[in-house]
Amino acid sequence: MTEICKMTRPLISAEAISRSYLKGQHKVPVLRGAGLTAHRGEFVSVIGQSGSGKSTLLHVMGLLDSPDIGEVHLDGQRIDNLNAAARDQLRNRVFGFIFQFYHLMPELSLLENVMAPLMIRHSILDFWRKRKETRAAALEILDQVGLSHRVHHRPSELSGGEMQRGAIARALIGKPEILLADEPTGNLDAETGHGIMELLKRLNREQQLTIVMVTHDEAIAAQAHRTVRLEEGRIQKVLQQEAA
Ligand code: ADP
Ligand code: MG
Repeated sequence: MTEICKMTRPLISAEAISRSYLKGQHKVPVLRGAGLTAHRGEFVSVIGQSGSGKSTLLHVMGLLDSPDIGEVHLDGQRIDNLNAAARDQLRNRVFGFIFQFYHLMPELSLLENVMAPLMIRHSILDFWRKRKETRAAALEILDQVGLSHRVHHRPSELSGGEMQRGAIARALIGKPEILLADEPTGNLDAETGHGIMELLKRLNREQQLTIVMVTHDEAIAAQAHRTVRLEEGRIQKVLQQEAA
């Protein structure tokens, strides 16, 4: 395993996060002071039952949602209270996201899906200027995830495992520091899910990619360096250390 320096401050930390949602007239607390950190190069998993708030915590950490109370820090700097433009930029540059249902755009080829985040990042003009290098970078990442033979296919022509590999490639094209994975194997059979976990572990090991993954599956969670459990809106306990 790569050396993870835990003497330094965490790369990302969600601190004492509370978040409620309105259900009809009622305010339902989902997170009640949940805290989660990841150091650079660490692969952390969060396990919890369906409805325990795993996705909410991941969304707060990745600035897709805001906490009612609590703070999110990136490399020691508070980021949850930045203005919308700064948050958008961080979301696009610092975080990569993957989801249970891939969220690839159905009308685009796999290659176009992987290039899309850089279209959003750059102005149209810049994108056209850089399209050759962007295309080359997308092809290289698709090769890394084992999809060189599928680049011109649309998502509907791909298997679940291929779609998730494509989603991982799309998350990586912007060279994120942190990959946030929400049940990445939740829609896949065991063998295909195993392949996705092997890919995530390889990216963590070889590129020191920091990964925070949430799952309800103990066996999947146990493949990270460290697992914590989300229960009753809080991180309850550390289940295992340094397993990966
Ligand atoms: P998990 O990912 O662990 O299954 P979630 O974070 O998705 O849990 O959801 C936790 C609870 O918060 C659920 O009861 C869900 O219905 C509720 N919830 C999540 N997001 C929203 C939202 N945007 N609006 C209203 N309720 C929500
Ligand atoms: Mg969820």
